[in-house]
Amino acid sequence: MEIRKNLERVREKIGEAAIRAGRNPQEIKILGATKTVDVLRIKEAIDAGLRLFGENRVQEGIGKIEAISDEDIEIHFIGVLQSNKLKKAIKYFSAIHSISSFRLAKKADFIASEMGIEYPVLFELNLSGERSKSGFGKQEFIEVLPALSSLESIHPIGLMTIPPLGKDPRPYFSELKEIFEKVKRNFGTDFRELSMGMSDDYEVAVEEGATIVRIGRAIFGERR
Ligand SMILES: *Cc1c(COP(=O)(O)O)cnc(C)c1O
Repeated sequence: MEIRKNLERVREKIGEAAIRAGRNPQEIKILGATKTVDVLRIKEAIDAGLRLFGENRVQEGIGKIEAISDEDIEIHFIGVLQSNKLKKAIKYFSAIHSISSFRLAKKADFIASEMGIEYPVLFELNLSGERSKSGFGKQEFIEVLPALSSLESIHPIGLMTIPPLGKDPRPYFSELKEIFEKVKRNFGTDFRELSMGMSDDYEVAVEEGATIVRIGRAIFGERR
């Protein structure tokens, strides 16, 4: 019940933010960020109409994917990814938002080519320069762009970022949008997602062009 109501409120706020920015609310997908959220509550969200989810840990995510495999939903990987977990992540999740280095992109490409698939990925950018955060630096991303776009078995569908805690997120969101506009011609027509915005800042993210907002607490309540 609570989940349904929360989801309704989030949808409403997304709609209002979209209108403020002159955007069509339909362009924006809600991804339920379900780390620590159990399968029962995920099913509640599915019943309330949510179709896209994100997990941060490979093993935890696989457990849930197997438990709800009969549902018509997508589960993406959004967490920090160790390269030794990459193969499993590609096998189970329908996309990865957190390809955070050229090395990881190359490895994902190699794994996908071995599996004979084209695998959807988003590149994660670290726009604050914080060393503790993963993600391509802006300059680095521009430099590896030709090499990235030559990888044939990953299928780039967009960019992702997490702004630094405790700062105004808007400049980071607008910078990601700017970079997106600058690089999109390298990647073709499926490259159209901007994965940005979480519970505390998704309205700002929508105003700045987000197409996927990743929302945990505002839908599922505080995490244990
Ligand atoms: C947990 C998480 C979210 C959701 O965060 P909330 O503040 O609970 O909305 C979004 N993106 C990533 C990468 C996360 O780890």
